Amino acid sequence: MEAYRSLGGYRSLDAAFARKPEEIIEIVEAANLRGRGGAGFSCGLKWRLRGADAPRPRYLVCNIDESEPGTFKDRYLLYGGPHQIIEAVIVSAYALQAEKAVIFVRGEYGKGGHGLHRAIKEAEMAGLVGSNICGSGFDLQMEVHISGGRYICGEETAMLNAIEGWRPNPRHKIPRPSVKGLWQHPTTTNNVETLVNVPHILLNGSDWFRALGINGGCGPKLFCVSGMVHHPGLFELPCGTPARELIFEHAGGLAEGRTLLGFIPGGASTAFLLPEHLDVPMDFDPVAKAGSRLGTASVIVLDDTTCPVRVTLNLMRFFARESCGFCTPCRDGIPYLAQILATIASGEGRAEDLVLLEELSGIIALQSFCAFAPGAIIPLISSLHCFHDHYESHIDTGRCPFDAVNKSGA
Ligand code: SF4
Repeated sequence: MEAYRSLGGYRSLDAAFARKPEEIIEIVEAANLRGRGGAGFSCGLKWRLRGADAPRPRYLVCNIDESEPGTFKDRYLLYGGPHQIIEAVIVSAYALQAEKAVIFVRGEYGKGGHGLHRAIKEAEMAGLVGSNICGSGFDLQMEVHISGGRYICGEETAMLNAIEGWRPNPRHKIPRPSVKGLWQHPTTTNNVETLVNVPHILLNGSDWFRALGINGGCGPKLFCVSGMVHHPGLFELPCGTPARELIFEHAGGLAEGRTLLGFIPGGASTAFLLPEHLDVPMDFDPVAKAGSRLGTASVIVLDDTTCPVRVTLNLMRFFARESCGFCTPCRDGIPYLAQILATIASGEGRAEDLVLLEELSGIIALQSFCAFAPGAIIPLISSLHCFHDHYESHIDTGRCPFDAVNKSGA
């Protein structure tokens, strides 16, 4: 804590307590801070829609339960700066006038969760968490909940069930958690990357934050880059940085002689983009206009030695394993999609399988209870369209054409 404070940590508390909660919400809304957990909804608007007259008690849940393949940004925030998270949660809870905050941590990040718990104790000892914080009259209890370690636990309503001690199945979205969330009380949920921007916005202003983006993007953004690049890793860059710069400059580009086949721009449940999209600014609206989603800004890069059928199969196996099992179309349907894909990937597929995949995907997406299944089929449908020739080649030749490429070292 001393190191963090010596670098200016916790200064935003004074800036927050000098303002009325609704003023902070206005500043955050003016900054156009958009949710970094995947949905991209305006953070300030979400807070304002919760309503200043929401009944008490009110809760704030900070979500650090990232689990998708290729998504690892929240991990760096958790392990790198637990006090940064605590500071962000305090000022955000003050803006929302929430009396209790729960920080929900991915099960596999257990050590980080314990570190965060220790940091909360330190903050309590320093009078930064608990009653009458810094003499402001504001009280906040804060605790860490370590997830059971399943992907669905990070879904907003499943997370609420998990915190309450129930099986983490998603809940009906009506009424919204902001109306009836934890223990039926108004609850606001935000991704941790979203919240850690709030203290900086308070200290430096909404104009400063907006100016940190480029191409119309707002603020800085954490980009995870993985796949066929020289330097996979995490990069903090202006929101709106073109995909070309991200992949070829910051992530070191592809191996010599290789060409780009495509990339997933925003995590495992977003549609593929192609080389023609390399100049799309990596920001919410431009990526949506290009036919995908910025999501968590987790970019997975495919080069011309990567079989897109196998990549898609890998993703579908992940989603099949992580279905919560509550509804049949998702629980049984996604594994079936994966099974058909595996047949095609091995060279034993039939042309009818491509039609079957599309038809089943539509049924599964429409008839499942939560957004998990529709999200799971997005990369599959996109892959079938973007890489149709590769699917046909597997079926026509009865083998994976990439085996030959990789074995020859070409
Ligand atoms: S769609 Fe899948 S994850 Fe969502 S409730 Fe149904 S089984 Fe669970």
